[in-house]
Amino acid sequence: MEEKKIICPVCGYDVMKSGRLNPPAFVVEMNSMLNLKRSEVLVTFCAKCGEIVSMKVAEPYKF
Ligand SMILES: [Zn+2]
Repeated sequence: MEEKKIICPVCGYDVMKSGRLNPPAFVVEMNSMLNLKRSEVLVTFCAKCGEIVSMKVAEPYKF
């Protein structure tokens, strides 16, 4: 798992871990019925308290 030096705004811990939302939790294009443009969402969270400090679209170039 990836670790970054980001300070948790809730508990002050400085170890972060990354994960992804379990599919089918994709980000999809607005107003699209077919959802051809979609991407997983990656999250970075505090290893101690679990606060999510970042959510990122994994493949923004698809949009
Ligand atoms: Zn924390």
